[in-house]
Amino acid sequence: MADDAVNAPLTVAVIGSGPAGFYTAGALLEQSGVPVRVDLYERLATPWGLVRAGVAPDHPKIKAVSSVYAATAADERFRFFGNVEVGRHVSRAELVERYDAVVYTVGAQGERRLGIPGEDLPGSVPAVDVVGWYNGHPDFADRAPDLSGRRAVVIGAGNVALDVARILCSPVERLAATDIADHALDALRTSAIEQVVVVGRRGPAQAAFTTAELRELPEFTGAAVEVDSAEVAEQPGEEKLSRLIRRNLAVLRDYAAALPSQPSHASQPSRTSQPSLAAGTRHLALRFLRSPVEIRGEDRVAEVVFARNRLEVDAEGWVSAVDTGEREVIAADLVVRAVGYKGLPLVGLPFDERRGIIPNDAGRVAGADREYVAGWIKRGPTGIIGTNRKCAVETVATLLADVAAGRLGRHPGAGGVDPVGENESWLRERQPDLVTEAGWRLIDAAERASGEPVGRPRVKLTTLDALVDTALTRTRTLTG
Ligand SMILES: Cc1cc2nc3c(=O)[nH]c(=O)nc-3n(C[C@H](O)[C@H](O)[C@H](O)COP(=O)(O)OP(=O)(O)OC[C@H]3O[C@@H](n4cnc5c(N)ncnc54)[C@H](O)[C@@H]3O)c2cc1C
Repeated sequence: MADDAVNAPLTVAVIGSGPAGFYTAGALLEQSGVPVRVDLYERLATPWGLVRAGVAPDHPKIKAVSSVYAATAADERFRFFGNVEVGRHVSRAELVERYDAVVYTVGAQGERRLGIPGEDLPGSVPAVDVVGWYNGHPDFADRAPDLSGRRAVVIGAGNVALDVARILCSPVERLAATDIADHALDALRTSAIEQVVVVGRRGPAQAAFTTAELRELPEFTGAAVEVDSAEVAEQPGEEKLSRLIRRNLAVLRDYAAALPSQPSHASQPSRTSQPSLAAGTRHLALRFLRSPVEIRGEDRVAEVVFARNRLEVDAEGWVSAVDTGEREVIAADLVVRAVGYKGLPLVGLPFDERRGIIPNDAGRVAGADREYVAGWIKRGPTGIIGTNRKCAVETVATLLADVAAGRLGRHPGAGGVDPVGENESWLRERQPDLVTEAGWRLIDAAERASGEPVGRPRVKLTTLDALVDTALTRTRTLTG
């Protein structure tokens, strides 16, 4: 038994099939030092994490990274187990018992809160919900934002805020050529939103936009982008700013310069800022140096009170926003809070509440044996898709170093693990509606086939029932 265990391939369960999960699987399968088998568990019936359910539908080139994941999935040493939630259908302890190593790549499934009065008024929604809704994530299919008012205020100064603003402003014909969820397309067709105001706490040099996302706004939305030239004028320490930030500033200054006149609040800074709202047109305003302090309304959102900030630079060069005491009120029919995603704890594993991560040392979970992390749950919700590749490679290096050092203590139960096979059917017992790689391929083919005649990359199935029926019914038909 001991010899068999040593000679058998290393078995690794990876939990979560987003970029971090696939890059972890890929790095394990690509190395040649240790024979390995990888089982990838995913709570949804579909793989790819936020590449399917986060990246905006009008960014198809970014979603094309999924072809890399499909190549990993085609490896015969790899298996996909979809529709299985770790912590619900199977426990962490069961995985640790059955596999040589477990890598958690579960991402950041929660939202950061503003912590201000009125945050939960109807009409104030987290970006997590809006993004999940327009991307057809089954958990968010019923979270349609109320689009019956004229102005939406998006709080946050990162790409997620820009994604949401852009989708709310874009002509529906443009979105109709994407894989946006049909329910979102229908709602956006009748949307009354005419203006979206994106508001950031600090200055334009501290915003986390990428230049491409800023630059595409007028082309994608067909709308003017309103920026107050005073807010994007010379920034503290500008000569030392990165090239990315300087490029962003140049784009913002171009927007400000293209405006025929300055925004209405410039002449009346003390109380209300109503970015100019011409009837019948749809447009976008970017505002800086404002922190929301209260969301107000009788029975639903009516306005947001902002503190006007100034910037203060400390000895280390950190730039913080300091409340000037001045207040400004912006009328709002919809408020989208895009101030960040946040990792959630996994039962039995240590958790850093403040950062929303599982504490780890180069990917090895603090205080645990044979358990690792990669991606957003390892380092927090920052960085682009490619950042997760480097992150996963580091974790796999740690894991392989532990194998080499004999720290994994290969155990008799592992090595030949087959959770769906005749001897180990525990997984199918726990989740009879298991979606395997074959089932996912049927979903994928069905979605693409529905999209093809109407010139769309795919028409997403957006309910768990539809996804599982497609995966299982046809799997059964094909396999007789
Ligand atoms: C709205 C939005 C837009 C973005 N746009 C871009 C972009 O345009 N370009 C870019 O480079 N980056 C973009 N990003 C960032 C990119 O999506 C992330 O860097 C990346 O997805 C993080 O990878 P991850 O694998 O850690 O997490 P995720 O992609 O979130 O994957 C985690 C997976 O784990 C699964 N899971 C969670 N819990 C469990 C459980 N208990 N059991 C089983 N499975 C579980 C989830 O369902 C999910 O599939 C965007 C992010 C967001 C939020």
